[in-house]
Amino acid sequence: MTNVWETHTPEETFELGRSLGEKAVAGQIYCLDGDLGTGKTVFTQGFAAGLGIEEPVNSPTFTIVQQYDGGRLPMYHFDVYRIGDVEEMEEIGYEDCFYGEGVCLIEWSLLIRELLPRTAVRVVIEKELEKGFDYRKISIENMRDTE
Ligand code: ADP
Ligand code: MG
Repeated sequence: MTNVWETHTPEETFELGRSLGEKAVAGQIYCLDGDLGTGKTVFTQGFAAGLGIEEPVNSPTFTIVQQYDGGRLPMYHFDVYRIGDVEEMEEIGYEDCFYGEGVCLIEWSLLIRELLPRTAVRVVIEKELEKGFDYRKISIENMRDTE
């Protein structure tokens, strides 16, 4: 089953992320896909707020993953946009994050699709310019339902 949300401001996308962060449980993996500038990081910032993380969350530019320990659960924020090869994921020890006690959010997850467990949740963010510049369609579904 796919749940679809429509947002019209960055704040609404942030609040959707927050509501999911509030409900997050250890071991969850959220895969965030959508073009550059659709709101994957905004969603992640809301999610972090929902976990109670107060530290500022930005896209990890020089590292593939950034860990935040200030909330109810550890949060691992991946941005794999610049990854060259999935072996780089092995090198950073991604399995400790995916199968650990925290929650993972992965921007551009399709670039590492072969590593994603079937238990992950897929979040796809799309623009529809005819509905306005700030309109976003956010589809959320369990990965196992997409197969
Ligand atoms: P991404 O991580 O997907 O590349 P960002 O989250 O960094 O994108 O940036 C999204 C940009 O789009 C921000 O500048 C934000 O203010 C803007 N924006 C406009 N409308 C929305 C919306 N409805 N939801 C999320 N971001 C929006
Ligand atoms: Mg981003």
